[in-house]
Amino acid sequence: MTTGTTTRTTIHGNPGDTRILPAGLKVRLSPATNLPGSAEIKWWAAPVDEEAEGWPTATLAWAADVGLGLGEGDVKVDPCPTVIDLRTPVRSERIRSFQPPWRTVFVYRCPTCGAEHRVGASRFLGRRPTPEIGGFVCGR
Ligand SMILES: [Zn+2]
Repeated sequence: MTTGTTTRTTIHGNPGDTRILPAGLKVRLSPATNLPGSAEIKWWAAPVDEEAEGWPTATLAWAADVGLGLGEGDVKVDPCPTVIDLRTPVRSERIRSFQPPWRTVFVYRCPTCGAEHRVGASRFLGRRPTPEIGGFVCGR
């Protein structure tokens, strides 16, 4: 789940029928992938939980559907908290290096946000690079 905090007060709706989303509010975010990339709206915001702390009641009803549209500067997105298992890379890559001339990196994809991470191999079975044991926080 992607979360963030609103950085400024935003006004939604049409003239005469507007709802306000205040600044400093914790929100749950869904990427606005249903809109073209050029659209100003980048996220749909909804309450993090059922208590919807700090949400104005009138605005809450609007968020129940798709969410309230927020642009790039309207919200500070929290770093992704998902822990990625080091034993499960999606693939490995050989990258050109100086000495030795090739290095292996393992590529991981975050199941929550889709971010790709590359981790250089530092563990070997014989001469074969092997994924590490443990995990790391996505943080993107
Ligand atoms: Zn992530």
